[in-house]
Parts: sequence; structure tokens; C-alpha cells
Amino acid sequence: MTIAAARPDTTDTIDTHCPYCALQCGMRLRGKEIEPREFPTNRGGLCQKGWTASAVLDSPGRLTGPLVRADGALRPATWDHALDLVANRVIELQARHGRDAVAVFGGGGLTNEKAYLLGKFARVALGTSRIDYNGRFCMSAAAAAGNRAFGMDRGLPFPVTDLRAADAVLLVGANPAETMPPFVQHLRGAELIVVDPRRSATAELAALHLQPAPGTDLALALGILHAVVADGHLRHDYLAARTTGFEDMWRIAAAWWPERAERVTGVAAADQRRAATLLAGAANAYVLTARGTEQHARGADTVSAWINLALALGLPGRPGSGFGCLTGQGNGQGGREHGQKADQLPGYRRIDDPAARAHVAGVWGIPPETLPGPGPSAYELLDAGPRGLLVFGSNPVVSAPHAGRISARLSDADLLVVADVVLSETARLADVVLPVTQWAEEDGTLTNLEGRILLRQQALAAPAGVRTDLAVLSGLATRLGQPAHRFPVDAQVVFDELRRASAGGVADYSGVTYDRLRAGEALHWPVPSVDHPGTPRAFLDRFAHDDGRARFAPVDHSGPAEPPDAEFPLQATTGRVLAHYQSGAQTRLVAELVAAVPEMFVEVHPDTARRAGLADGDLADVVSRRGTVRARVTCVPSIRVDLVFLPFHFPGAGRANLLTNPALDPVSRMPEFKVCAVRLVVAA
Ligand code: SF4
Repeated sequence: MTIAAARPDTTDTIDTHCPYCALQCGMRLRGKEIEPREFPTNRGGLCQKGWTASAVLDSPGRLTGPLVRADGALRPATWDHALDLVANRVIELQARHGRDAVAVFGGGGLTNEKAYLLGKFARVALGTSRIDYNGRFCMSAAAAAGNRAFGMDRGLPFPVTDLRAADAVLLVGANPAETMPPFVQHLRGAELIVVDPRRSATAELAALHLQPAPGTDLALALGILHAVVADGHLRHDYLAARTTGFEDMWRIAAAWWPERAERVTGVAAADQRRAATLLAGAANAYVLTARGTEQHARGADTVSAWINLALALGLPGRPGSGFGCLTGQGNGQGGREHGQKADQLPGYRRIDDPAARAHVAGVWGIPPETLPGPGPSAYELLDAGPRGLLVFGSNPVVSAPHAGRISARLSDADLLVVADVVLSETARLADVVLPVTQWAEEDGTLTNLEGRILLRQQALAAPAGVRTDLAVLSGLATRLGQPAHRFPVDAQVVFDELRRASAGGVADYSGVTYDRLRAGEALHWPVPSVDHPGTPRAFLDRFAHDDGRARFAPVDHSGPAEPPDAEFPLQATTGRVLAHYQSGAQTRLVAELVAAVPEMFVEVHPDTARRAGLADGDLADVVSRRGTVRARVTCVPSIRVDLVFLPFHFPGAGRANLLTNPALDPVSRMPEFKVCAVRLVVAA
């Protein structure tokens, strides 16, 4: 079986994009040499991860052939043996326990083509309802709040470059100075207001830094909103013309005068009023959220509270202003649109909508009644302990909340199959490991944080012995009795089918073609026909609800699911550092990045460390109700005394997610990654 159609000569220069985050910085590859290139999101900049991205292509840790567990160890196997084994075990498990005995877990870094074919594989070849992906842990709260307010979830409904004209930007729970440094250049003209319990690298750039207690962002949003209204900044004209629901929302927010919000959040009422004045006085202003405020057991409501603030100020859909959520993973936007979510069909269609089922079933050539219904969300899927689990482009052993419990569930599976580039911590537990191509070795599209569809073209030959994820899915599907034409291996063929499946949906890609992308057209979805120019600014005339109006949401503060107490008196929050990406499976293979941040650490206020008998550089154990993390103490005077911060990129005993609380948001099923109760002790 071929890996991909044409393999460019390695002396060719190929324009491509960084394999990591959703900024999708433009870069140029000559062989494995990387140079930045001019592209609107990065304007010639790259971060350390981007500069070193090619190191993973030929890292000694790269997988170059299938592995099958025998006598307790993973051993080399042929592709036919590995795929036959997987297919036979799947057939056996489903015959004995039903279709839902086998589950699929995808990833927000998969290309649109892979995410689409993975969803089709689950629903058609496996006939299972059990599919979800790690984007549930990333963007689900923002997506739910966006759908609720605007009728559509596009992270930034405007191009990143619009931010350059901003006079004020409120950044909530976002640290782009570390997570996506080239993004920061777009904020240079604005007064920055940063909401973050840590004094992050981004907070250092701010005109105003608000440090709420973890888990109290919603109360802070209510306090600032109250100040906007009380100080006469409410945009009555905008509310009347473009929104509904203000009165219901205000019945709650009216009780959140800034002094009350100060008592809950710790943010001075005067600073809340200053934030309101800065935003209201700006000719062009934006409110942007990210994981810090979203990854909570009330994440969707919290994002809704920030949207309420933006609506009260008349920002969404106004030229030069707006509301947006900063997407994290490389294809965090496209990966949540085309069917790898538990409740979703391609084009951002709902799987419980009869018309959507009929449309997609028609494209797939199957009866609509054979499509399974919605399945459980990511954490619930993993926690249920599926008998068979196929993982593509994800490392839940490190990235799932309550990671110790999830690791045990995966170890107990009768069949764990992992398709990945490297031997991730999840792959180490697998029965079968399938090595796949990565960014520079394959064609595929991604949709960046501003809803722009990008073509990443193959630049290099893949190592002998690896296959594309599309080829893996096709190989398995045909072994499960599907006709080969239903699971194509060519990315462009898959994309053309995705276009048809998405036609008429919210995320309509039907007018996007590889030729238009190769020609450099800037196509932001929806693009409903091949002569449509795309939709860079989504809400200028109307929002996507039937009445064209945005909706205020009546949301109230309730606090973290696990407040601190005498046994666990501190709160822990987790996040990213500049040198590493997500679970770290790739960046921990890059020497420069490992040298920059070699090991797990915990940021602690010096007074808090002293009280625990610890000093800078000591080894500490951070203990929650769910587990213990071993980490090197880094004393940081600017962090709150009641808070510790842990990066989530490290494996083994340094897994931050051994601590995290899987309390789920009732709306989005987002786990509460960003706050849990812990204690800090000298390492045992
Ligand atoms: Fe750009 Fe993100 Fe890659 Fe850094 S990791 S180079 S910010 S796309």
C-alpha cells in the first residue's frame, strides 16, 4: 500500500505550517531545514517549538514499524499481521459484547480529513456510538457557550490581524506570550487587561492584571459587567438591535456589585471598574478567552459570562471589535467540526438531527437508520473502560483528568490500539501500536484559530514502514467488511467527500478546494460554493440564530467543584510552558526544548513553600484526593499564596493530571482541569 501519492524531492522548498498550535504559523521547509515565512497569523515569527519542529521527523524516538504485544512486550510485526489482529479482535469483541464494546478516541491535532474519516470509520465500519476526542478537554466549554450565544462556534469569528487595530483587549485565562508568542505582536497597539491567577508572561505585558482566586472567574465577569451597567456604559442601541435576553441575565448580574465580586474573587472593586472603563472607553475592543477560564466544571457558563460582558459593551459583530476564544491544538477548530465528537456529524451537524443524519448517510451511501446515536463524552468514554479502544493522535494517559484512574482503565482493556508518531505513554500500554506519518510527510487541511482552512502539503518522504492515518483506517475498514472506495486513502479525495458531507451545515466547506488553497486564497468558513470568497468576519450583519440575534445567558457563580479545606488547603492549576506542547510526547524528544524545561516543576509562593518546609529547587509532592505528583519547587513571589501551578507536559510521577478533578461541566462535559484542592509536602 502506498503512503502518499507523490514524494517531493528533498531539495524542493515547500511552504507549510507548524505542526503544533492553532496559530498555524507559516513556515518553509527545505529538506528538514525550517525557516519562517510571511503569513498573517505569524508575520514571519516562529516560537522555539516551531523552529525545532523538524527534529521529531527523524528523532530516535520515532516509530517506524508496527508493534504487537507478545509475552508482555511490544515486538515488531508486519502491517498485515497488526491490522489482521486488530480487525479480528474487534469482530470478536463486538460479536460477544455488542457494537459499543469498541470505542474510538481522536485528537484535535488530526487533519480535517483524518477527523472526518475517523468519525465515518466509527459510525460506519465499527457501528459504534463510542467516539470522542481530546478536544473535549480543550475547546468544548467555549464551543458550547459560542453556540448558545451566537448560534455558531468559530473560535475567532474575525481574522487575527483585526486585533492590530484594537485599543483595548481583555484576555481571560490566556497566556499567548508562552503558548503562541507570535500572536502577541497583534496585541501591541492595545491596552491589555489580563485575567489570570498567575502573573504569567502575558500578565507582565498588561496595563491591568486581575488575579482572581481560581474558580471565581464567573463572579469576576459579573462584577465587571455590573460596573459597565452601573457606570452608564451599556450599549442600549446594540442591545435593542442585535440581542435578546438581557433582562433575564441582569436579574442575576444586578446582585453582583463589584464589592461583592471582590469578596469572592479577591480582585479589588476599583480594578473591576477600571477594566470596565478601559473596555467601554476604547473605540475598538475585544474580549478573548482561553483554557484558563474554560476548563472548569462550570466552563460553559463561565465563557457565557464573558460573552455577556462583551454583548453589554456591544462588541461581537461590530467592525473592529469582537469576542473570541483562542483555540489551542493545531486543528482544534476543524477537529471539532467534522464528526469525531460524540454528538456530531460532519459540517458541525448534530447526530440526533434527522435531516443531518439523512444528508450524511446519503453522502456515505448507507441507510440513515444504521447510523448510531450520540455517545458519551471523552472522560466518560474512557472512564467506562471500553473493552476495545482505538486511539488516534492523542495521549490520554498524560492528558486526561484523574490520569491514574484513566491509565488503569486503559490497562484493563481487552484491546488497546494506538496510532501515533512516537511511542507515547498511551502507546506504551497498547496491545498494538501503528506508526503513522506526520505533518511534513502527508497532505491534509487544518482550520486555524480564526476559522481559516489551510493546506499542509507533503514536503518529505515518510520513513519506510509508516502509513498515513487514512491508510490505517482504510486497511482496518476493509478488513471489517467495508468496500475500499468508502474509505479512500488519498487526502484530497477524502476532502472532496468532506466538502459534500459539510454542504449546507454550519461549518460549510463545500466551496473549499485544494486548488483554491494551493493558490493561496484565504478561505474562512462558511464557504458554501466554489465562487464564494469565504467569511472572514462572521457576525457583521447577523448572528447565526434563526432570529439573527445574539443571546445573553442568565448564568451565576457557584465556585470550584472542590474547594480547599483543612486537609487540602491549597488550590492547584495547570497549564503550558513555552518549550513544550500538550502531553509533551513530541516536544520531550527535542533536545533544545528539553534543555529549556527538562523536568516537572511546581510554581509556589515563597511563603507557601516555607510553610511546607520547602525551598526553591527542593523536590515536593503535590497531593490531591486523586493522586500525588513529584515536582521541583520553583518559588515565584508573584503567584497567589493559596495557589500552585503545574505544567501538564510531563509523564510518569510528574503527570499533573494525576491530581486533576474530573468533575464535568453539565453543558459541555469539560472536566475541571484548572482548579483542584491540594496540599504541598516535602517529597517522601
Ligand atoms: Fe507558531 Fe504555535 Fe508553532 Fe509556535 S507552536 S511556531 S506559535 S504554530
